[in-house]
Amino acid sequence: MNWLKSFLCAHRYEWMRNIYGDEINLSGGKRSLWGCTECGKVQARDDLHDDGDLRGIAGPLPERGWD
Ligand SMILES: [Zn+2]
Repeated sequence: MNWLKSFLCAHRYEWMRNIYGDEINLSGGKRSLWGCTECGKVQARDDLHDDGDLRGIAGPLPERGWD
């Protein structure tokens, strides 16, 4: 990692993956990993990221066409 670039970078983090099992303890209780798209800096966060499993649940039901 270029430390100077990282130091000057405003950081735009994108979700990489969630942390499960023993890795939670190894990371000090963090639940997800994020990487900066600009400099590559990795940040661990406390919250699990919604990776799409819940997508569509809150959406409208399709028309059924009862006549
Ligand atoms: Zn960055």
